Amino acid sequence: MIRNRRIVQYSLIIVVSSLLIFSCARKRTVKKTETIMGTNVTITVVADTSKEGDAAIGAAMDEIRRLDEMMSLYKENSEVTRVNMASGKHPIAVSPEMIEVVENAVAVAKLTDGVFDITMGPLIVLWRMRTAEGDIPTEKEIARILPRVNYRNIIVNKKKSTLFLRRPDMIIDLGGVAKGYAADRAAGILKQHGIMSALVAVAGDIRALGARPDGSPWRIGVQHPRKPKTTLTVLDLRDTFISTSGDYERFVIKAGKRYHHIIDPRTGKPSTGIISATIIGDRGAIVDPLTTALFVLGRERGMEIVNKLGYEAVVVDEDGGVSHTAGIDVSE
Ligand code: ADP
Ligand code: MG
Repeated sequence: MIRNRRIVQYSLIIVVSSLLIFSCARKRTVKKTETIMGTNVTITVVADTSKEGDAAIGAAMDEIRRLDEMMSLYKENSEVTRVNMASGKHPIAVSPEMIEVVENAVAVAKLTDGVFDITMGPLIVLWRMRTAEGDIPTEKEIARILPRVNYRNIIVNKKKSTLFLRRPDMIIDLGGVAKGYAADRAAGILKQHGIMSALVAVAGDIRALGARPDGSPWRIGVQHPRKPKTTLTVLDLRDTFISTSGDYERFVIKAGKRYHHIIDPRTGKPSTGIISATIIGDRGAIVDPLTTALFVLGRERGMEIVNKLGYEAVVVDEDGGVSHTAGIDVSE
């Protein structure tokens, strides 16, 4: 009797484990990289077949391209360009996605004493132009432009789905918020395709969907800002969003000084103090701009806000000091 029960037990174990092995073996990991939003977009999915994986990635990439067409500062027919061209004149009807992104950007501006401000467009364009020529803007040029920057002059009409910039010389730039939003939207498309396990990386803005097929979390290494081949920390992610802003990818050095692409609206110049900031949180449309804001705000005030929101963060300051919230393990 006992012997029979044992045999049944063993057979059950064998059946269950072969089912598990079979289902794991059936899964395919498919990975693709494309250039969209002026950067590398890499999508990794775990699917039943390569064909399904390819189809899901294709649709997710299309979604990011669609949002880029809508939100690019550099595309003649984007909704952002139309809003900028009508500044000071009249409101422009826009897609609900634009309203959502702008509302989130304004929420982050309010939360961060205005250091994240999408009306920084004129300053960002000025810095981009000058640094492309190997130069930097003059104090006079900066002072002339600064009064044009103020997120309070963005009028969002959700009911009519319109955007209006109050001053005639305003320019909005969604470069600090569109990538996070796009990564989340792309993950939503993957879900619609039945994908339960994926990573969507739009440069340093990464959405983890579910966990890895074996149930363990996705693992993302955060690069050390001054040692390209060294990992500062490896973070476990499961159904969450991670964003990193650093001064080490887009910058110029002039007279021994580094000028990077994140501008402090209080000075009109690249921010100082922090050289890398990473935040883990729930939504790309908040975490992406908040990471840029943390970069500008500095450790103390920035971490205070991160803690209040219940997010996790790690920052490196210009002296190489590493600070992090309680939930992050940094082995130095
Ligand atoms: P990256 O684009 O390298 O991922 P971020 O997500 O931090 O970096 O966004 C930086 C981009 O945001 C800049 O390229 C610029 O378009 C825009 N930006 C720069 N400074 C600010 C700021 N203070 N507030 C809002 N947007 C900014
Ligand atoms: Mg960002």
